[in-house]
Amino acid sequence: MRVTAAVVREAGQPFIIEDLELDGPRDNEILVKIHSSGVCHTDIGVRNQWLPVPLPLVLGHEGAGVVEAVGSGVTKVAPGDKVVLTYASCRECTMCVRGEPSYCEQFVLRNVAGSRPDGTNALHGEGDIHGFFFSQSSFATYAIAVETNVVKVAPDTDLSIVGPLGCGIQTGAGTVLNRLQPSAGSSLVVFGAGAVGLAALMAAKVAGCTKVIAVDIVDERLTKATELGATHTINASTGDVVEKIRQITGGGADFSVDTTAVTSVVKQAVGCLALKGTCAVLGFGKAGTEIQVDMLEFLMAGRTITGVTEGDARPDEFIPRLLELHRQGRFPFDQLITSYKFQDINVACDDSDSGKAIKPVLQMV
Ligand SMILES: [Zn+2]
Ligand SMILES: [Zn+2]
Repeated sequence: MRVTAAVVREAGQPFIIEDLELDGPRDNEILVKIHSSGVCHTDIGVRNQWLPVPLPLVLGHEGAGVVEAVGSGVTKVAPGDKVVLTYASCRECTMCVRGEPSYCEQFVLRNVAGSRPDGTNALHGEGDIHGFFFSQSSFATYAIAVETNVVKVAPDTDLSIVGPLGCGIQTGAGTVLNRLQPSAGSSLVVFGAGAVGLAALMAAKVAGCTKVIAVDIVDERLTKATELGATHTINASTGDVVEKIRQITGGGADFSVDTTAVTSVVKQAVGCLALKGTCAVLGFGKAGTEIQVDMLEFLMAGRTITGVTEGDARPDEFIPRLLELHRQGRFPFDQLITSYKFQDINVACDDSDSGKAIKPVLQMV
């Protein structure tokens, strides 16, 4: 079938909207009519080739839409079902069996290889078009997914906003609710008030943290953080961030979350911790970016630094939980979203880079 897709043909260059041919779903695959797709920092990073996924390539990994057709082996969803697309896993490795699919041994193969695990692709156009980005490539009017990365949602779900739950929002919220699990009354600092950081902030409120601090260098983002419940905000371009956090928390924060993947910022995120505090790092940076800590200070304070992928989320159970919190008004992730027409994808990416938009969502319908 003919589809419209945004293609990356050269590293760091704008997306090009093209008409491509898409094969029908194989036995284990699901054809989804894409309604909308969030733009995640990882899409922009791969467009810039921070990760060497082969080009030309169709990106997009926060898709939401309606199942159009399924292969003969698919039982999880049926045509007409509304779905959120997320990351794919293998279901069979040690980590998947243990219920930790975001650490699937085949995570790279099934999400960022640029093709099916067997090396084939379903999109065809000029050149060897690569796809299956997060087993979806949702910067297109239709996408092929598999059972592990479709999450069925209720018929009344608003498909224009839910795509980001599949990656950025579940990453921030899951890091807090699944990994850090702060007790009520504890303190948490978020470094970087983008979509992931603000999702972490909202989750900290849900968990009952009483001091929730947002750190950023863009004042508009800090204003948004306050609207979403931050008790304190710090503009990192002025003054000593660690000292300010020590003052606010009376000695240090119980938890910190770094979304920036900037070495100097991670140092602050560790330095601001209370005794036995934990810092979660989840930013997607260039390969080779290092964490630097003072070892003696680190061990004397009993601190922990932990990496988190996709918020440790098991999407089939975690995304419905976030949707219920949203329905109750306790997790207003829709306030992070700015909608763009699909054709305006390059404007959306520029606005994301400049900080003008926190979470751009492309509307295909
Ligand atoms: Zn696995
Ligand atoms: Zn992402």
